[in-house]
Amino acid sequence: MVEPAVTDARRTIADFARERLAELAERGLLRRLEVSARGPAQEVVRGGRRLVSFSDNDYLGLSHDPRVKAAAACAMENFGAGAGSSRLITGHHPAIAALEEHLAAFKGHQAAVVFGSGYLANLGTIPVLCGPGDLLLVDRLAHACMYAGAQLSGARLLRFRHNDLDHLENLLERHRAKHDRAMILTDGVFSMDGDLAPLADLAALANRHDTWLHVDDAHGLGVLGGGRGTATELGVRLDFVMGTLSKALGSFGGYISGDRTLVDLLKSRARSLIYTTGLPPAAAAAADTALAILEAEPELCALPLARARHFCAALDLPAPQSAIVPILIGTPQAALTAQARLEEEGFLVVAIRPPTVPEGTARLRFSFCADHREADVARLALAVRRAGLA
Ligand SMILES: *Cc1c(COP(=O)(O)O)cnc(C)c1O
Repeated sequence: MVEPAVTDARRTIADFARERLAELAERGLLRRLEVSARGPAQEVVRGGRRLVSFSDNDYLGLSHDPRVKAAAACAMENFGAGAGSSRLITGHHPAIAALEEHLAAFKGHQAAVVFGSGYLANLGTIPVLCGPGDLLLVDRLAHACMYAGAQLSGARLLRFRHNDLDHLENLLERHRAKHDRAMILTDGVFSMDGDLAPLADLAALANRHDTWLHVDDAHGLGVLGGGRGTATELGVRLDFVMGTLSKALGSFGGYISGDRTLVDLLKSRARSLIYTTGLPPAAAAAADTALAILEAEPELCALPLARARHFCAALDLPAPQSAIVPILIGTPQAALTAQARLEEEGFLVVAIRPPTVPEGTARLRFSFCADHREADVARLALAVRRAGLA
């Protein structure tokens, strides 16, 4: 038997991938995974070089805290590496249950539910609350997983200009009445810009228009409001809030806290909770211990913002609102060059390029952590100045 000839016209997966990669490379948008061995005190070894990272979200340095690591090790030793199944089958581990109670109490809500990641929390929650016939109003700079959840929901999606209350109100006036339920989606701290959403005004606007407010506070927890988050910082009480265990808590996972009815509904309906394996007990135990540290040490939570302030003052940049400080560069290529300049000085500040940020706004995104040394922050500011970046 003769094998049928493979025609040259057939475009294989490899062909397709090669073409796409070439196109991305030409635009400076190729992304690569760099092996990065993270040690304590924000040290990273990359390509054999030891760098101080200003790109991590481990704001309190808790991913390497001995108490947090011991809690994870103990949970792993006693209960195994993985959860074994979905949380709705046998994966609802005691460590997860304890963490949920702790989170709810900390947030001042009746209940909380933990997901496999912050991304999964938004992906699962938004479609439970809104669907076809409903309206979602999303800040243009909200995190990608808010958009992913919004698109998955099938609700009508309207973007409003970043933090622009007039634009949002205008959209509500024009479109709210045509839909059954409506919800505003915003980050508390915007992840690539470091500015805060005007939560008090957003909450008032939402109330006036019979609309819910969903806040993603991934970067607020542990940093703002004495560690309690953006809403506390701004003196706002939210009915519910989303957050992550993967940043200031130094572990992995995500959560929603709110009324028990909301949490019960999510447990019954959120597909990213139901159809995926529960997070490892060690991750929950680590986050639980990290949360206890965060609660007990508000002075630790004040350090990331203090470091960011120090950096901005040294460079005459506007005062930061969070631990995140962007320096806009422009083109992706220029941002990569800027990253390389700082690497020569021993600092890792990863260039952020489109589509993570809007076209023309490629940037260096600096994030400041409690365990950064003041001297390193000062040296970094000097290096930024010498490189002509600010
Ligand atoms: C990091 C981040 C997430 C995702 O959280 P993970 O736990 O890392 O999946 C969600 N929203 C915002 C604003 C983030 O910065």
